[in-house]
Amino acid sequence: MNLAREAIELLGQVARILWFEGTKHGLRDREWMALRFLSRANRFSRTPSALASYVGTTRGTASFIIGELERLGYVERKRSVTDKRSVMLSVTQTGKKFLARDPVNVLVDALAVLEDDGKIGFRDALRHLLDQSDAAEQRHHTDICRRCIFLREDRAIIDGKTEFTCRLFRAPIAEAEVDLLCTSFEHHRQ
Ligand code: SF4
Repeated sequence: MNLAREAIELLGQVARILWFEGTKHGLRDREWMALRFLSRANRFSRTPSALASYVGTTRGTASFIIGELERLGYVERKRSVTDKRSVMLSVTQTGKKFLARDPVNVLVDALAVLEDDGKIGFRDALRHLLDQSDAAEQRHHTDICRRCIFLREDRAIIDGKTEFTCRLFRAPIAEAEVDLLCTSFEHHRQ
């Protein structure tokens, strides 16, 4: 039995829960993907262009998705504090509550019952797949700051919290932000 092939065949079937025809609880699969992403993205990635990159679509389609999520009251847009020309997207309280109906929660719940070793092994296996396919296709997947080549841990520990800096955006990163998603993430090449 080819275990690697068997695993990927199963992964393909799991993906059907993420990608579906029509709507679930009123949202299409890409709208769910966008709402889920915006609830987990850091401040550099809650923009229309980062959303388009994450969903894998054009700016026009991303704009349509954002408009739909705004119309339903799940997302709001604000002018960036640092750059008035940029727009920052955020999930509203209504959107956060609505995420309890996310179709992928069935997968999250199924994984949650595994021992920690099983969850870590599953997560690390998926990361390995993405890291390898990034190298083969000369691209970078979206991931958390904690693994990023641009994250620098500053020595100063203030009020018991470690301070970080993003060397790409030249901005401070709070400890609470290092596990948020970023579309500018780059992992360390072996
Ligand atoms: S350190 Fe990397 S992942 Fe974090 S904000 Fe900077 S570019 Fe994004």
